[in-house]
Amino acid sequence: MPTSTTLPTYFQLNTGAKVPAVALGTWQSAPGEVRNAVSFALKNGYRHIDAALIYKNENEVGQGIKDSGVPRSEIFLTSKLWNTDHPNAAAGLQRTLDALGTDYLDLYLVHWPVRLVPQATGDPLLPVNPDGTRAIDRSWDQAETWRQMEEIYASGKVRAIGLCNWSIPYLEELKKTWKIVPAVNQCELHPFLPQHELRKWCADNGILMEAYSPLGSTGAPLMSDPEIAAIAEKHDVSPATVLISYHVNHGSVVIPKSVSEKRISSNREVIRLSEEDMAVLDGLAAKGKAKRINTPLFGWDLGFEDWYAPVSQ
Ligand code: NDP
Repeated sequence: MPTSTTLPTYFQLNTGAKVPAVALGTWQSAPGEVRNAVSFALKNGYRHIDAALIYKNENEVGQGIKDSGVPRSEIFLTSKLWNTDHPNAAAGLQRTLDALGTDYLDLYLVHWPVRLVPQATGDPLLPVNPDGTRAIDRSWDQAETWRQMEEIYASGKVRAIGLCNWSIPYLEELKKTWKIVPAVNQCELHPFLPQHELRKWCADNGILMEAYSPLGSTGAPLMSDPEIAAIAEKHDVSPATVLISYHVNHGSVVIPKSVSEKRISSNREVIRLSEEDMAVLDGLAAKGKAKRINTPLFGWDLGFEDWYAPVSQ
């Protein structure tokens, strides 16, 4: 039998708001799949949905919310400011609100600490220069993006504001000018990328961490790791349950994505892991398994060291 748990099902933001510990992810959830996934998840106990403009499916996410019949007031809904909208965050937010069919978000995050410049041709959300390189505005000051996020917060259209993909150097820089401490830093987190130092920095500054790609993203590759599988076998649960529980045991929100009803249901199961289990999971990266899975092109263009810590940390 799975180990019973008294783990928290909610965490608290620095705004005082409660945030459900397990969210449904919606990235790479194809049109036609995500509407049902969101509706099924909400009907089966999820109360936290993680969306983003760049996932190009916010319309369907919104339809899924309506289909579920769960009142909007019971749902914690997150979305993200896309890189092309940094100079006009309010317009980016409005597009998201319109697509989701809601008039407020519970949490609005800056998706990446990088601004992309819209170009005349090509995908307007992932613009490239005429020579094929990413249209990155390296002179853009992220303090200005955050100032706009603070204005949005003051408007009441979002109940909390936060970040994604911010490393310690980027956070230190933003801290010099922020008036509102970000509520959240949503980052790639799993046993192959535990980010111990970043986790500590965020805890010390009252920022809740949210773990994305907890299973290793597409195809859930971390599930086949023998040491993770051994812990799962010991507790008689799936490796996915161990990988999801790892974050809740650490005091972080976790965002597994699935469009399968069976996996959406099982991904809500969270168990208490022993100190020994946690030490094994926390130590895998340092034992040579360190790996960053999410490597968007604008990351490579900038050079990871610009905003990421080394993967071994
Ligand atoms: P996950 O680590 O959640 O893995 C998703 C993959 O695992 C899918 O292929 C899914 O397939 C499969 N899967 C899900 N549950 C199980 C299970 N129990 N057993 C076996 N396979 C399973 O990856 P994501 O990269 O999607 O990350 C999760 C969410 O985090 C995203 O959807 C998004 O909301 C957010 N995110 C945020 C980012 C940011 O920059 N802020 C970046 C990346 C992600 P299937 O659907 O068929 O079940």
